[in-house]
Amino acid sequence: MIPIDRQPRWARRPAPERSRDAPANPHRGAVSLREITKRFGSTVAVDDIDLEIQPGEFMSLLGPSGCGKTTTLRLISGFEYPTRGRVFISNQDATDTPAHRRTVNSVFQSYALFGHMTVAENVAFGLRVKRAAKADIAGRVADALELVQMTALASRHPAQLSGGQQQRTALARAFINQPDVLLLDEPLSALDLKLRQAMRSELSRLHRDLAITFVLVTHDQTEAIALSDRIAVMDAGRIHQVGTPTEIYEQPASRFVADFIGEANLLEVTVTGGEGHRTEVALASGDRLMCPSVDGQRPAAGTSAAIAIRPQRVVVAPVGEVDGTEHALVRGELRELKFLGDSTQGTVRLADGSELIAVRPNDAGHHPFGSLRPGDQVDAGWRHGAACLIDR
Ligand code: ATP
Repeated sequence: MIPIDRQPRWARRPAPERSRDAPANPHRGAVSLREITKRFGSTVAVDDIDLEIQPGEFMSLLGPSGCGKTTTLRLISGFEYPTRGRVFISNQDATDTPAHRRTVNSVFQSYALFGHMTVAENVAFGLRVKRAAKADIAGRVADALELVQMTALASRHPAQLSGGQQQRTALARAFINQPDVLLLDEPLSALDLKLRQAMRSELSRLHRDLAITFVLVTHDQTEAIALSDRIAVMDAGRIHQVGTPTEIYEQPASRFVADFIGEANLLEVTVTGGEGHRTEVALASGDRLMCPSVDGQRPAAGTSAAIAIRPQRVVVAPVGEVDGTEHALVRGELRELKFLGDSTQGTVRLADGSELIAVRPNDAGHHPFGSLRPGDQVDAGWRHGAACLIDR
């Protein structure tokens, strides 16, 4: 939480609908989904998920199309009712609270601005509906417009705005009521790449300034990684992993997460033994390797698992030239070298037929794969800590 004296004037104002004498709720903005399932006929959109979102956190729901992200968001907003399970907001059971009485607000991909109203009227709308005092409305609209840098365009209509300006207006309209939680459903996806990147920084700044909980739905992993305190990775209605961007990237909990977040080599292996926190595994070719265990636990011998290694962590060199004490090593044939501009990608075919991708940065006057050419026998390796063992 941002200390009160560092918060902008905007965030320090008490919400009008709350009593000034009420003690501050330390759980304000917390969201808790407990054993939630949502079915639409025979479709299970959300399948028995649990999720705890902390007050003031920036949480992203990330996953491919149809995985249940929007349904999860709509369960928090109250636009959907769970088939099973309970929704808590600010530590209160909100499952049976209608959408308009929940202390949350939503921003949609389509902005949903009122075309016949000016920017200022759009932003004031929520306060007018709540019959806030006129003088209060004017001050708060001015503050909100300042926060999204739309003061100069306050009297324009939505048709006279760019996509980014419309999105800023939609954001101001959503937070003017000082919700405990702001729900953002793919808010940047209608913008072009440059604008999307600029709006990412705006969202980050807004989250810092407002000091409220943000829940973002996105299928864009770069966006989720750049913005979030934590990410919940979803697939087929289930949450595969919840963690910080670093945890999700460095220690994916499943093959799905490893594959969905960034590029990853996934080598299928069988656990053969190990010692301490290190696990010994065998590739289909019989080659044995040591790798870190899963959450400090060594899976039982015979378990089918996968090693995930980022292509940037793989080094490729002529046979015998990679240090075998510091690296896990596999032998193979260099099949292809592909120039990618900033980097060069090398594909190594291993003895069991699987392929390992290495990506090395291009350096002026120096080829990242040296004198190696397709067809050469090579050693490929990665530092022992750079790989991650996955058993699901
Ligand atoms: P996208 O990124 O494409 O928006 P999503 O991850 O947000 O996808 P949801 O919109 O939550 O996914 O949908 C999850 C599943 O539930 C999908 O199979 C979808 O077709 C189904 N679904 C969602 N809403 C309804 C509805 N009102 N009636 C029937 N099926 C629905």
